[in-house]
Amino acid sequence: MVKSVIPLENYKRTKIIATVGPATDNYEAILGLIKAGVNGIRLNFSHGTPEERTKQVAWIRKASKELDKPVAIIQDLQGPKIRLGDFEGIINVRKNQELSFQYGAKYESSGRIPIQYDLSTKVKRGERLYIYDGKVRTVVTSVRDGVLYAKAENDGVLIRRKGINVPDTDFGGDVITPKDRQDLVYGSSQDFDYVALSFVQNAEDIERLRKILKNMGSNVRVIAKIETRSAIDNIEAIVEAADVVMVARGDLAVETPLESVPIIQRHIIGLGIQYAKPTIVATQMLASMVEAPEPTRAEVADIASAVITGTDCLMLSDETAMGRYPLEAVKVMKRVILYTEGQSISKTTFEQSDAHTKQSAISQAVVDLACSIKAKAIVAETKSGATALHIAALRPTIPLITVTSDVRTAQQLTIVYAAKSYVRPAHKFAATRLTDWLRQHKILSKGDVVVTASGFYPGVVGTTDTIKVRMLE
Ligand code: PGA
Ligand code: MN
Repeated sequence: MVKSVIPLENYKRTKIIATVGPATDNYEAILGLIKAGVNGIRLNFSHGTPEERTKQVAWIRKASKELDKPVAIIQDLQGPKIRLGDFEGIINVRKNQELSFQYGAKYESSGRIPIQYDLSTKVKRGERLYIYDGKVRTVVTSVRDGVLYAKAENDGVLIRRKGINVPDTDFGGDVITPKDRQDLVYGSSQDFDYVALSFVQNAEDIERLRKILKNMGSNVRVIAKIETRSAIDNIEAIVEAADVVMVARGDLAVETPLESVPIIQRHIIGLGIQYAKPTIVATQMLASMVEAPEPTRAEVADIASAVITGTDCLMLSDETAMGRYPLEAVKVMKRVILYTEGQSISKTTFEQSDAHTKQSAISQAVVDLACSIKAKAIVAETKSGATALHIAALRPTIPLITVTSDVRTAQQLTIVYAAKSYVRPAHKFAATRLTDWLRQHKILSKGDVVVTASGFYPGVVGTTDTIKVRMLE
């Protein structure tokens, strides 16, 4: 057993999600990541086979058990991530050149550039088609007989399987592809906590996914990846519809002007706080660490600023999936988070939603009380996690310890600001009992003051009604 008692001072409030890939595709690597501070793991369904996934899920759950630390597993669907098809070598592109694209074409014999998705039914004349992270920019001039003609706006090269972005194209509710549906069926037999939907365009896309999940009897929660222009236009409705929102800066910076992304990030974090929906800041947070053991100064500043503005989670992608220094990346990220959270300058005030529910009012009272009596921790009993989400949305600077009878809820809460979860049987005194346990295990000490939130009907959603102050003996 590696089980260790972690002092409260080492709790980070901002959480870390890491992507597993070739660089971390074994049990020891995954155990190392979780031990170093990872709270959630993303499995990127743009790559890999179901067999690999099943093995990874087993490793994650085993490591989580070994460390006695709940971990969220996220199934990240590829969505309409459109890529070039296969061809030999590179294709040189000249400014003003007319290019032709066709689903499944053979370049060598037809001169048409193959694409892995039939865009001819979606894209219209005048719309932009960006290739290879926007390195080659083109505008569609016509679409005829399944062939898409586009004029290049700059010189560049095309390499097989590079991504395509179509920022002006309306997918008309078709962002869940046949591959995604297959992956969802596979997912319904797996121990996943979240499913992330790529290239969301509007709130209806989320509702469609929820219907599919419901029909499969799945209890996963939904992460909306914000990486399209139309998602920005519909952002408030999407935040309301989703359970969690991800600022997917990689594709977002191709689909919207690069310079607008930091402001969009701030806006989305603010909306997340307002609607009590967790937010994730993703992509290139420590990009240089794919190759180097030390981050750049700018990357450190990016992490600190995401923490100061109050995001719930930071995500690592290539850094842990295919980088040379996956463990170092997590350690650096954790150090920057802990240091930044330790400075009073990082306390920002946040705007709350006006819609006062009973839950949000009780949560406000819990946090106010805990702050004014300088409590060491808040211990909250929660069934669905809603009480914890409302307390977390107030961005308390005190650790938020949650106790739930539902393993899935505990795992889902790991990516929520400040929340540290314990699974215990539903009981009227679950919060009190857990506090005793924390005292026995020296996580809390004699003289510590704790504020507990619980309910008369333990294990029933929406029944938190009791706030207690306890001084520990
Ligand atoms: P991806 O999403 O890594 O699946 O592309 C994140 C992003 O686009 O930033
Ligand atoms: Mn993306």
